[in-house]
Amino acid sequence: MADVHDPATRSRNMAAIRSRDTKPERLLRSALHKRGVRYRLHSKKVPGRPDILMPGRRIAIFVHGCFFHGHQCETFRWPKTRKDFWESKITGNVERDRRNENQLHAEGWRVAIVWSCALAGRGKIGIDPVADRLVDWMKSEDRRLEIAGVWPTPSSTA
Ligand SMILES: [Zn+2]
Repeated sequence: MADVHDPATRSRNMAAIRSRDTKPERLLRSALHKRGVRYRLHSKKVPGRPDILMPGRRIAIFVHGCFFHGHQCETFRWPKTRKDFWESKITGNVERDRRNENQLHAEGWRVAIVWSCALAGRGKIGIDPVADRLVDWMKSEDRRLEIAGVWPTPSSTA
């Protein structure tokens, strides 16, 4: 039986938790780094604590999990249990995200939202193509970018 007080076991467990929660985000950060993008993480001073940010360039990037941030995509399913709880939680998250983004724009930030369905799963675009699109956007003047997964539209059998 594994001893949870053993530092090696504990750090393995922590690594497993971290990689489960943030693996696509870490891969995206490293893909951006390879493209020469230098960034900071989760500054408390910036509305919404963006996952990736470049304060000098006023660029904020969020990597949003589709479930918790209420992305109405193919991966989103309302849980069958505790429906009211999840509905108010997720609706609250969506509203908070909108307020944070408005605040960022008001403070002169450019904002990119990367939905987790773009990074992993059946509809994924892939880590490298998402990183390429972010880098292209950084060079542009566009104030906002949103990258989501792509699902083939059901072919009409005409
Ligand atoms: Zn999604």
